[in-house]
Amino acid sequence: MEKIRIHLGVSPDWFRRRYIETLEHGDLGIRLNTTGVCPFLDNDGRCSIYQHRPAQCRTYPFWPEIVDTERNWKDEARRCEGINRGQVIPLKEIEKRLKDLED
Ligand code: SF4
Repeated sequence: MEKIRIHLGVSPDWFRRRYIETLEHGDLGIRLNTTGVCPFLDNDGRCSIYQHRPAQCRTYPFWPEIVDTERNWKDEARRCEGINRGQVIPLKEIEKRLKDLED
């Protein structure tokens, strides 16, 4: 969060109020805007904080609950236009990204 805040050049209070929310189990997450879109998505549809994006974004769509079953993967693919497109990501890279989630 601190890297994102510095990248944006805003105060800690402003950053928390504008961009962060507390989730169900006390974890912190990005506060989506009123239309349910990430506030860091720019007008060209690109991530404006890409180099500092959170772990959840760096590891998507390889979250345990998505890769758990083929059905979950297919369900997610209906929501995400990037799944099953582009280059194949080697299993070792996926495992590395998931490990980053734990760190
Ligand atoms: S990659 Fe993450 S932080 Fe960036 S626009 Fe998408 S959801 Fe938001």
